[in-house]
Amino acid sequence: MKYCPQCAHRLITVRLEGREYLACEWEKCNYVFYDNPLPVVAALVEHEGQILLARNQAWPAKMFGLITGFVEKKETPEEAVSREVKEELGMDADIVSLIGIYPFFERNELIIAYHVRTCGNPVLGEELAEIKLVPPEKLKPWAFGTGFAVQDWLNRRTVQE
Ligand SMILES: [Zn+2]
Repeated sequence: MKYCPQCAHRLITVRLEGREYLACEWEKCNYVFYDNPLPVVAALVEHEGQILLARNQAWPAKMFGLITGFVEKKETPEEAVSREVKEELGMDADIVSLIGIYPFFERNELIIAYHVRTCGNPVLGEELAEIKLVPPEKLKPWAFGTGFAVQDWLNRRTVQE
């Protein structure tokens, strides 16, 4: 962003309470581009006792992850995660629990992660290239983004046993 969406003057870098933001250079306009993180829902999908991981069309061959998507306007996070599972896997999701909320600074997102259960036969939506089922004991969390939710889910699972 280069220009103010309110008055079309230039945006300049300012410091407010120790943080840097882009803000309008015109003294009569008080626009600040806060660039707040976007909420994203993630589903750790338990499908018939295994964990379903998905590879997005745009991802490299061996990269799999959780089902994710943006929360739409006037949609609760629970509705969003159910909708994403339906769109991407063609199955209804039962929400088991909220795993947690995780910042993903690199993408300026805030991930709201749920454990969900599905049954039936997955039918892949157009965003997905392929899926795989992994037994929970073989699930290996990755050290970014939704991987921290996978780690927390596994830790709690171990404690319960
Ligand atoms: Zn302005």
